Amino acid sequence: MTETAHPKGRLIVICAPSGTGKSTLLERLKKEHPELHWSVSCTTRPIRPGERDGVDYHYITPADFEARIARNDFIEWARVHSNYYGTSLSFVNEGTKEGKALLFDLDVQGADAMKKIFGARAHVIFIRPPSIDDLEKRLRGRATDPAHVIEERLKNARIELTRAHDYDSLITNDEVERAYKELASIVAGQLKGR
Ligand code: ADP
Ligand code: 5GP
Repeated sequence: MTETAHPKGRLIVICAPSGTGKSTLLERLKKEHPELHWSVSCTTRPIRPGERDGVDYHYITPADFEARIARNDFIEWARVHSNYYGTSLSFVNEGTKEGKALLFDLDVQGADAMKKIFGARAHVIFIRPPSIDDLEKRLRGRATDPAHVIEERLKNARIELTRAHDYDSLITNDEVERAYKELASIVAGQLKGR
């Protein structure tokens, strides 16, 4: 992590255990709020069906990721579910310098890092599933990950859920339409306050 990011701009961080439904909600948010600049993270995890390289993530090798860590290319990076994930420092620096509203999808380590760097200018919205049972159903229903990956994600979700109350906003994704309205209203408030 580095502390060199420029002190302007607004950062909205979405944080949710895998399978909660954050990609579903984010897809709609991005369409309805083109003024939000989406941070495309780098990851070493395999691309899923339907995902696009350079749009959802930059899919890179572990060696490339490690070279980027050494070059200080990331404002924050973490190992999540046995893979590397990292946020581009230049994206954040340039976006904040121009006073833009930036949108991130980060795990709890990434959310903590952004709060540490940006304080109140980073607004972290934690999204949780109604229950672990629902989360498991969603992960299995999505059918994008092998069984052992789902097990690992469920195990991590139990840990991440203990952090649900530590952030700026908390949404339960019980019903997509309702949860989306809540998310859109929080984001609209943040954009007004920018
Ligand atoms: P995430 O990005 O958090 O890992 P996804 O957006 O991929 O999660 O959602 C996981 C699965 O759950 C998908 O199949 C999605 O269609 C489904 N889903 C999302 N939100 C809900 C909801 N509120 N109720 C039921 N299923 C949902
Ligand atoms: P997925 O593999 O399901 O897309 O993402 C797994 C987890 O990694 C999610 O919790 C997601 O929020 C997180 N994640 C995605 N990009 C980044 C990033 O750049 N940094 C950090 N710390 N976490 C990330």
